Amino acid sequence: MALGEPAPHTNYHLLSHHQLTDVIRSMSHTNNTLKLNILNLTRRLGTTLTRLDAFNALVMALAEEDVPRLQQLIATAVRHGDSVRTIINRIEEAVTRVYSPRGYDQEDYDIGLLAYRLGGRQLLAVLNRRLSLPSLRTLQRHQVFINVHITIGSICLADFITNIRNTVFPSSSSTATRLAGHTICIDEIALQEKADYNSKTQQVMGICHQHASAVNLTLTNTESAIRIAESLAREECHLGKEATVIAVTTWGNDSIYPLLAAASCKSETPAQIGDIMQTAIRSWNESGAREKLGPIWSVATDGDATRRRGFHDNFLKHELDELHAVSQLRVAVRTVRVMPGLNRFVGDDGITLDFDYKHIFKREFSVLFLVRFCSHESQACARSFGRPRVSPLTMVMS
Ligand SMILES: [Zn+2]
Repeated sequence: MALGEPAPHTNYHLLSHHQLTDVIRSMSHTNNTLKLNILNLTRRLGTTLTRLDAFNALVMALAEEDVPRLQQLIATAVRHGDSVRTIINRIEEAVTRVYSPRGYDQEDYDIGLLAYRLGGRQLLAVLNRRLSLPSLRTLQRHQVFINVHITIGSICLADFITNIRNTVFPSSSSTATRLAGHTICIDEIALQEKADYNSKTQQVMGICHQHASAVNLTLTNTESAIRIAESLAREECHLGKEATVIAVTTWGNDSIYPLLAAASCKSETPAQIGDIMQTAIRSWNESGAREKLGPIWSVATDGDATRRRGFHDNFLKHELDELHAVSQLRVAVRTVRVMPGLNRFVGDDGITLDFDYKHIFKREFSVLFLVRFCSHESQACARSFGRPRVSPLTMVMS
């Protein structure tokens, strides 16, 4: 308390004129400060109520309108720092198809590609307008369209080479080409048993490749159609139950490219399966893919018994110790052959055989189950079936 100032809570009638003037001036200042605070609060209240109205309007808009690609719309607006009112305006424009948010992700491209493959450009155009999926032009800018050549008739080397040029080479040219090892895989996919007409080649599709040579598949007139139908009725050829699919995948990344798609009646022999796979490997070498992208290191299959037999004959025929006599490859023979349990058998050019691990585990489990729970005869059979075998692991090659 300064000299001359009254003590706090002193009665006003005891104050001097000068002290009363100071009190009045102080109270006037406090009064003005409070008035200013009230004005600020009033203005903030008005802004808050306006914003609250905007949020209510946004909730009503989301509840009442079917806004296509809403998540992308709001994400784009937030990225641009737009206000709630601007977002509502965008929603209104999107509902009236005036505004369409961009920013497609990979899932949108995949769904768009699926729609295009299933329903063609008409379906994609409809979904583009209704659900704002990417248009065909947008898809073509962001996706690599692969045209797989479907085998009509018997499988031949040209089918593989055509697909290598259609699928593998365009994809590899878009990125820095790097030499790597490759695996050729084979499997089947289910097919609807029906014949179709390929207008490009004027041939009937869907006939099994095993017996397609028994009939002329070229469709030129009614007689040729009747001739094919009669061959199907006499079972000289069949409608494909499954499609044999062969693809190549690169070690070190998840890319996979189809090399063959052919209708099959599942009557091929192990030798025919082996020949088809050897043709696939030969096509890889003769098409120039080996020099451009790298060699085939292994072949892979599932637990199909016919393929297992055919692949054993073709890809487990050289023991590693004698590999130096059949190949010029530099293989770490000394390192591998002293490692117990490793598979030391390979095919030509050191190509190894890989089985799907799921089927290997299933097979081992079946053997264990038989040994543990079944009769002595079954156990003897299981023991002979499950004798010490080589590991599915591929060799370590330098
Ligand atoms: Zn057949």
